Amino acid sequence: MRCENCGAPLLKSTKICPYCKQLNDKYEEKPLKKLTEAIFEDKNTTDTLENKDTLIKKIVSLILCFTLGYFGAHKFFEGKIGMGILYIFTCGFFGIGVIIDSIMYIFSIISIVANKEN
Ligand SMILES: [Zn+2]
Repeated sequence: MRCENCGAPLLKSTKICPYCKQLNDKYEEKPLKKLTEAIFEDKNTTDTLENKDTLIKKIVSLILCFTLGYFGAHKFFEGKIGMGILYIFTCGFFGIGVIIDSIMYIFSIISIVANKEN
């Protein structure tokens, strides 16, 4: 890929273009994954500290999803402001979004905990 500002070749993992100091728009873009890989993506995390941090965030997200999920509280917590606003207006995607999110969080938490025991 290339920098959208100056056209210099960039890696996806590069946050700021070294040539023009422009923020790389594609920085956080992840390649399309299978659903199962997306759920268990935390398995690839080898850093235990980062793992613990992720686990805490997932647990807080799950609690927020259970309690204030219809207001998108967990989405705001994750920094997904757009999704959070959408959740407010649709009551958590008519409840379906909240249920799916809860399942995703539970799977993530199980995945992280299971990974720790290995
Ligand atoms: Zn550039």
